Amino acid sequence: MSTGQVPLDRHALDACFLGPYGENDTLLEKLVIEFLRDHVYWRRNFHPEDPPAIPTRATQHPSYQAFEARMRRELHALSAALKKSVPFHSPRYIGHMASDLLLPGLVAQMLTLPYNPNNVSEDAAPVTVEMEVRAGLQLARMFGYVDDPTRPDCAFGHLTSGGTLANYQALRLALALKAFPVALRAARVPLELPDDDWAAFNLGRDGAIALLDRWHAWLGTLAPRERRLWQTLVQAERLEHLGLVDFFARRPRLQAPKVLAPVTAHYSWSKGMKLLGLGRAQLELLPECGMRLDIDALHDALERCLRERQPVLLAVAVLGTTEYGTVDPVDGVVAARAAMQAHGLGFGVHVDAAWGGYLATLFRNPDGSLRTRDEVGAGFARFPQPEVHAAFAALGATDSITVDPHKLGYLPYGAGAFVCRDQRAMALLAEEADYVFDGAAAPDYMARYRRLGQFIPEGSKSGAAAAAVYVMHQVLPLDHLNFGQLPRQTVLAAEAFADRAQVFATEVADVAHACVPFAPDSNLVCLALNPAGNRDAGAASAFVRRLHEELRCDPRQPLQLKEFFGSITTLRAEAMGEDELARIATTLGLDSSGFDGERLVILRHTLMNPYLLDGENGISYIDRYFEFLATRVRALLAPAVRAA
Ligand SMILES: *Cc1c(COP(=O)(O)O)cnc(C)c1O
Repeated sequence: MSTGQVPLDRHALDACFLGPYGENDTLLEKLVIEFLRDHVYWRRNFHPEDPPAIPTRATQHPSYQAFEARMRRELHALSAALKKSVPFHSPRYIGHMASDLLLPGLVAQMLTLPYNPNNVSEDAAPVTVEMEVRAGLQLARMFGYVDDPTRPDCAFGHLTSGGTLANYQALRLALALKAFPVALRAARVPLELPDDDWAAFNLGRDGAIALLDRWHAWLGTLAPRERRLWQTLVQAERLEHLGLVDFFARRPRLQAPKVLAPVTAHYSWSKGMKLLGLGRAQLELLPECGMRLDIDALHDALERCLRERQPVLLAVAVLGTTEYGTVDPVDGVVAARAAMQAHGLGFGVHVDAAWGGYLATLFRNPDGSLRTRDEVGAGFARFPQPEVHAAFAALGATDSITVDPHKLGYLPYGAGAFVCRDQRAMALLAEEADYVFDGAAAPDYMARYRRLGQFIPEGSKSGAAAAAVYVMHQVLPLDHLNFGQLPRQTVLAAEAFADRAQVFATEVADVAHACVPFAPDSNLVCLALNPAGNRDAGAASAFVRRLHEELRCDPRQPLQLKEFFGSITTLRAEAMGEDELARIATTLGLDSSGFDGERLVILRHTLMNPYLLDGENGISYIDRYFEFLATRVRALLAPAVRAA
């Protein structure tokens, strides 16, 4: 793709963002003005012989001027109101999953907006639909999926409004693929088919795709009339046609499938189950062990499902949990899929990498090959833990992945993405059945997916967002030498932050106990705190909530009064297990017996700003943050405050 490119160094990183101080204002201005003018020339050169439709003297008319004044007034009001926005760009912002925006993406989006392409289809977006499909291939390569569109088993990815919709798309595709072999049986298609509905429902992803392939090949041998007849018969038996109620009512011995996800899974999974009509009750949340999905619990759940003939739709692994940034054992989930398939329980593996997906760039060489743990770890103190490396190495074997360019891809909202390993499955989502055999020759990959609206949950959607993702990936190829330099900074910052937290714990030891509750897997670091002498988890949580009052957005106050922004989350027994919680309780001096059912509120820090570490000015925002925190902890615990 971008061979022969010079790898990015620190100085090139300086040109990536507008910057905390607006340092690159001239660069941004130059680009915006250049491309705005370019757009105007484009308009004028469409049919230069057409005279201007808006008269040249129009600007002198009082109504024109009144309109302009009104527009200006409202725009000034908007601009003023926006000054209360959250300062995501600042290294003082270490709260949620947001930071500065990458200039290549921001400018690509701004420059595309006035062209207003609609990525529902190539008719409305002749340029940006193809960019979206290519961006999907760029992401596929980052994960280790096949990214050569001339291969039938090539991956396919598209953009969504965010991770929520990408996760929904994963559910939709998994269900379509799982139910399709059952429809072939019901339509009595003369192909070699599984013996019963249970077997058909449990072919697994590869088995179902192979069957789909045979079905398409067979259709290709039929005369058009006969082909259409069979297509209609099968269509009438598909779950998408019948609906869940009718589909399962016709086969009382087949239960609706479950989705297994870790208890740390994002709430979009709950939303997705409701939206799909499977119901929240079919989402089974599995416990964590050391803040990562407990593989033994997954095996137990799967064996129980097998015993009870309970079908499983998907097993979900999270790559970078929203609350703790921890990485589930994707390799273990993939191995469980193979083990259970051998027992006739087939299901797909989806990775929710909405947060951590772009960290995969650290694990990739420019030629797409995987880096060893030692290679990745060079320069880091602890990253990546062997389990984390194994998880990233296993991504290529999963069935589909969610990733959010608007999170660690540093792009404007809404840019999420869904990527599936084998594009052949996508045929089942097409609104027009079996497009593959509409005519004589099957359209090639690009031609097929330029009709994007067929396959996605949305209809009309932003082509400008697609341009942003594609151009950003072109400027910063998704390997460790290029884009990887960004997550590299953030993981280094997280390691420095965790080390500094230890020092902080000693500094405040006379008034409070503090600890990083578990070693961070990526670039989210939590901090648990408890006032010295307190043994009650509820009181410790109340204390952290008060501390967080000073670290949160408050639209009633001038922004400048805020020193830092942080966020909070909770530690729960059901998420981390009693043992882990007891260990943390002991470190904090809390009574672990009184911990039952209690949630411990802790501080959560998202370290994605690339300027957290010492730069030119010798300022470490991490040091400053902990100095600030120490001051606040002491102030809150001063005797007068305590008495109050
Ligand atoms: C943020 C996040 C989501 C939801 O993504 P949106 O872009 O907010 O819709 C889903 N899963 C995980 C793990 C996330 O971090």
